[in-house]
Amino acid sequence: MEVCPVDCIEEGKDMFYIDPDICIDCGACEAVCPVEAIYMEDEVPAEENEYIALNRKFFEEK
Ligand code: SF4
Repeated sequence: MEVCPVDCIEEGKDMFYIDPDICIDCGACEAVCPVEAIYMEDEVPAEENEYIALNRKFFEEK
């Protein structure tokens, strides 16, 4: 959250979310994530694809 230059990472109940409408794809968060849980959208592993929609839904329901 601290490295994001546009402050678009938010903490949810059970995970962190990235606002896709504000993110500028700079990759700063991906580089520092301690558990390597962040991917550029076109590099998300197939088994984690469901998180793309889950992430967007979080901001649509705000
Ligand atoms: S890739 Fe997006 S979420 Fe990550 S630090 Fe850059 S702007 Fe923020």
